[in-house]
Amino acid sequence: MRSLTIVAALSLTALAQPAAQSDPKTAALGWIDANASTLNRVNRNIWGWAETGLEEHKSSRELQDLLRANGFTVESGVADMPTAFVASFGSGRPVIGILAEFDALPGLSQDATAERKARPEVMAGHGCGHSVFGTASSAAAIGVKQAIASGAVKGTVKLFGTPAEETGIGKTYMLREGFFKDVDTILSWHAGDTTRASWDFSKGIVSVKFKFEGLPAHASTSPHRGRSALDAVELMSVGVNYMREHVKEDTRIHYVITNGGGQPNVVPPEAEVWYYLRANKHTDVEESYLWLTEIARAAAAMSRTKLVETRIDSDMHEVLPNRTLVEVIQKNLELVGPPVFDEREKAFARALQKDLKPAPALALAERVEPLPAGPPEQGLHSTDVGDLTWFFPVGQLTVATYAYGAPGHSWQIVACTGMSIGEKGMMVAAKALAGSAIDLYRSPDLIQRARNDLKTMVGSQKYLTLIPEGQKAPRTIR
Ligand SMILES: [Zn+2]
Repeated sequence: MRSLTIVAALSLTALAQPAAQSDPKTAALGWIDANASTLNRVNRNIWGWAETGLEEHKSSRELQDLLRANGFTVESGVADMPTAFVASFGSGRPVIGILAEFDALPGLSQDATAERKARPEVMAGHGCGHSVFGTASSAAAIGVKQAIASGAVKGTVKLFGTPAEETGIGKTYMLREGFFKDVDTILSWHAGDTTRASWDFSKGIVSVKFKFEGLPAHASTSPHRGRSALDAVELMSVGVNYMREHVKEDTRIHYVITNGGGQPNVVPPEAEVWYYLRANKHTDVEESYLWLTEIARAAAAMSRTKLVETRIDSDMHEVLPNRTLVEVIQKNLELVGPPVFDEREKAFARALQKDLKPAPALALAERVEPLPAGPPEQGLHSTDVGDLTWFFPVGQLTVATYAYGAPGHSWQIVACTGMSIGEKGMMVAAKALAGSAIDLYRSPDLIQRARNDLKTMVGSQKYLTLIPEGQKAPRTIR
């Protein structure tokens, strides 16, 4: 029943196109405006399914269907990930890539309500706003397609459907497998609580799982015959927490125990701990990572267990922002204007800010922030966009899609993303991305300048990944 509804809706989408217009930007932005209700529905579907990394089958399909219905050729299941895809339209250079994410976060089930209320049917939620992310990026690509199809600009637009961003897998393996190799520039955005071009660095991060093996035994009748793998995990945590005192201030180390044994009367024969290790510079991640692995080996020695696996699923570099591209984005953001929220939306935002401390200064951000003139700011987050920025000029922006001051990965973000607040921001993002892409098609000079910026930004730094050579994308995350 539902799929019939989608097919009907999509054929309407393909029809709802504005008349051919000579100005490519008007054509692109016009398509996005004319299809707002379809885009909202796509967001609500992805938001509702709330599928986590590498499990985003319906969400990925939803975006692919939208793109196919609008004339894109879609290659799906790329780079050994069933939910990764590349959708293309047009031919020749320049090739402009737009990134789409669509994975949700576990443990963040939340309704589109201003109070905390889990949805009984799902365990996860779009606490990073990736449902509006994927939808806006796809809309931007289709908007650009209108301009290419009308002959007003020449080149190719590629929408990269990049799964499992929350664990840094999608783009990392798509890059390794060569799926980005022919792009000239890449544009992306992220949900946020302000609207601005992203003139900032992110942190580098490695994601690594340590698996220990001990000996099972009755924990009361024969504990002397057992060796606890959980002891190794705990000793490793103690060691790492002492290590914290002697790493650079910008280092972040966080972990979860993914297997701590079955029940107390069995000495745990297997245990696993999953670490994220971050620093502003990837070179510092590389250095601390060596220390982390030494602690893991030492913990195994202390508990007389074995460290049987050290598995790096993903390793991400810090984002290197591109001045030329953020200036193009800034211009387009100012042209499109910030999202404008109504009283009902402001009341919704204020209600869900109730428990936030300190109390946010405003309900929702409604202006385009000025582009800072100085060097890039340092962000505290990490993203697999980072690795792309070492090889291609990448421009990014954030748009206000949730209540001001809401913490990242929170139920407040899930709530806003599933209603009009998130969707107003989504429309602004789609238009700013499409407008920026069109400026790039029209000015090869901008692309060249962006390439030069990239060269200067990388300078003499070397790109080194901790992912073993030849390793394929993981099939599952947990
Ligand atoms: Zn995110």
